[in-house]
Amino acid sequence: MNTDKGRLIVVSNRLPVVISENEGTWGIAPGSGGLVTAMAPVIKRHQGLWIGWPGCGEEAPIDELIEKFTAEQGYGLATVPLSEEEVTKYYEGFSNETLWPLLHDLLGHCHFDKSNWEAYQKVNQRFAEMTAKHVSEGDFVWVQDYQLMLAGRNMRELGVKNTLAFFLHIPFPSLDIFRRLPWRNEILTALLEFDMIGFQTLRDRRNFVSCVREMVPGIEADIRRRHTFLKKDERWIKVGHFPISIDFTAFNNEARTQEVADAAWYLHEKLENQQLMLGVDRLDYTKGVPERFLAFERALEKYPDLRRKITLLQVVVPSRTRVHEYQVLKEELDRITGRINATFGEPGWVPISYIFRSLDKVQLLAHYRASEIALITPLRDGMNLVCKEYCAASVDNNGVLILSEFAGAADQLSKWALLVNPYDEEGTADAIYQAFTMDQAERRRRMRLMRASTARNNVHRWVEWFVEAL
Ligand code: UDP
Repeated sequence: MNTDKGRLIVVSNRLPVVISENEGTWGIAPGSGGLVTAMAPVIKRHQGLWIGWPGCGEEAPIDELIEKFTAEQGYGLATVPLSEEEVTKYYEGFSNETLWPLLHDLLGHCHFDKSNWEAYQKVNQRFAEMTAKHVSEGDFVWVQDYQLMLAGRNMRELGVKNTLAFFLHIPFPSLDIFRRLPWRNEILTALLEFDMIGFQTLRDRRNFVSCVREMVPGIEADIRRRHTFLKKDERWIKVGHFPISIDFTAFNNEARTQEVADAAWYLHEKLENQQLMLGVDRLDYTKGVPERFLAFERALEKYPDLRRKITLLQVVVPSRTRVHEYQVLKEELDRITGRINATFGEPGWVPISYIFRSLDKVQLLAHYRASEIALITPLRDGMNLVCKEYCAASVDNNGVLILSEFAGAADQLSKWALLVNPYDEEGTADAIYQAFTMDQAERRRRMRLMRASTARNNVHRWVEWFVEAL
């Protein structure tokens, strides 16, 4: 990509904004995620545009809000409104009940429903139309994530000739799993209309390439260390892996503030003479929270000297609570927590301290900073940013990270984290004990190296790598 010419147009399911109403006054503010933080300066520099669903109802004065946002933030927004039915079928249905579990290797959670697939196609077409309306010669279009896998093909059909790139934030599964999808060929061939496709890990990239080679006829592949080049109909498509990260400096600096230090001290003061072991996850079956609770229970059984000396602080952020499976998961967590606390708890010690709500930034950083151990054990995760945030906020170099080998972040942190298979209750219980008994010098050595790695491979570098690869 020639970054001097043309604008950057980012297309994602949700716009990176928070729209709110307070006593009849509407407000708009940028979202707080790492992607927005990293992308905003690049879009500004290229007088760019972000296209997506605003996530609010029709009652919001959207044009007025967008004008205000552009004046304040220095880049434009274009909205793709979605009806209630589209949210149900395209977003909750096909995106979250078909693609999400399939791409996370969890076939048992997949629903294959033709009318959801039709809605997905229609909504991708609408995103493509909105992009085609705004794109000019020389612009570079960067589509984000699994909700918009068909949009590249739709744009080509509308005559868009610009450079089109795609990044998948979640994993890409092996051939044996992906081929279960009834619409596998449509999705693969649509993805091949992009000029560049980015994944989180080398494994995801390899899985995608082997699916394409197996299922799409007439593909030529040139596999190199950094990238794979696929040739289809005389066009070359570049496929790479670009592990996403966090704004390390922001987390590191904020974790050092007095406000966070005080909140961390207070948190620990209430749980005196104990090690705090932290889990932070959205409510999602991919995060392996019930499995984690069972491994903790096993650790308490197997290593009685943990009792009264460790508390598992588990924060679960409500998510997709309209979907039945998520409601069932919530009930399961309530049940297991209750059982473990009732079995092992004693006056003055509750083994699992479980919070079902989100934390504000100061509290989240205080939880990271105060915890001697982080127990991050997703069954599968594209990257997992929580573990990187934990490292960035562990400014006292005192934390041990227990990390699932199935999180994308394991590729960057495997040498210094204690890696576990989240399906292995016994192994995870042993890792908890190993973390608990790890001496100070070893903790420091490992955390320093994880912090240095996360500082180097931060989210700003991620954007640069991706854009440079074009
Ligand atoms: N997070 C948050 N509020 C909370 C707890 C967590 O905003 O109360 C954020 C956290 O800082 C992290 C994100 O949620 O940036 C979770 O990202 P991750 O990649 O770990 O998982 P995802 O939810 O995207 O699957």
